[in-house]
Amino acid sequence: MEKPFEIVILSGKGGTGKTSVAASFASMAENAVLTDCDVDAADLHLILTPEIYRSETFDSGAKAVINTEKCTSCGLCMELCRFKAIELINDVYIIDEYACEGCGLCKEVCPEGAIDITKYEHNNIYFSDCRFGPMIYGRLGIAEENSGKLVAKIRKYAKEIAQKNNAAYIITDGPPGIGCPVISSVTGADMVVAVTEPTLSGWHDLQRLIELVDRFHTSVSVIINKFDLNQYMTDMIENNLKEKAIKVTGKIPYDETMLHAQLEGKTINEFDPQGLPSKELSKIWNTIKSVIYEPKSI
Ligand code: SF4
Ligand code: SF4
Repeated sequence: MEKPFEIVILSGKGGTGKTSVAASFASMAENAVLTDCDVDAADLHLILTPEIYRSETFDSGAKAVINTEKCTSCGLCMELCRFKAIELINDVYIIDEYACEGCGLCKEVCPEGAIDITKYEHNNIYFSDCRFGPMIYGRLGIAEENSGKLVAKIRKYAKEIAQKNNAAYIITDGPPGIGCPVISSVTGADMVVAVTEPTLSGWHDLQRLIELVDRFHTSVSVIINKFDLNQYMTDMIENNLKEKAIKVTGKIPYDETMLHAQLEGKTINEFDPQGLPSKELSKIWNTIKSVIYEPKSI
């Protein structure tokens, strides 16, 4: 295999069992690089308990800050900011942190020297080794917004390490939802495995996720977790996916051992190798492997 095959495990929302699935794949993959791109709430490391050998701070950008004591309210900065990141609220000029791109123009033009550009370096990337191989993960600083950039950086490092190690796979525990970090996780990936639950909201979230992934022409397959809690919804989801020509690679029964395994810092395959969830996940992993060698089968 020329380049590592990149599998991203996603879910339309948090709490569907996505991380347990990612950890399970990690334990079965052999020769994989593992990443956690759920940078808002990374928790794969709680199961894989890696040892960090290096960390780096990720500079997520810069933002303008107005010193209101120096500002004489001339309005020039607001007039010239092309990102519309400066607002006048109650006669005070303030920066909209979410809109500011840190370009520095306002600082240049302010006649009073009232604006500073502050660098943000609150995001961390951790390089580590766990019992299943190298693992890279990140953590977004409080109130940081550049999760997409952080995810892109984690994936870039994962690819470099995978190429250096001649790894066959990159397995990513992706972020929940359909926002910027999800887009950043999917772009250029080889396969998305979407984990859902048999509820109406789960189905709606899954549909939105599938629509998003479709835009990137990435193949997607679905795992229905706790499928036996609502057989009607499971059947409905399966039938609808069939119409969309999307494969359900597996259905995991509800089993409290999934939670117990997580609490013990183990994958379900380690915790209860003979249990139904482990057996189903092994089957799913074998299906995925067969797809990698015969891409037309999914
Ligand atoms: S740094 Fe650039 S984007 Fe931010 S407020 Fe100033 S002019 Fe606007
Ligand atoms: S350009 Fe400077 S002085 Fe004028 S409104 Fe903006 S911050 Fe205040």
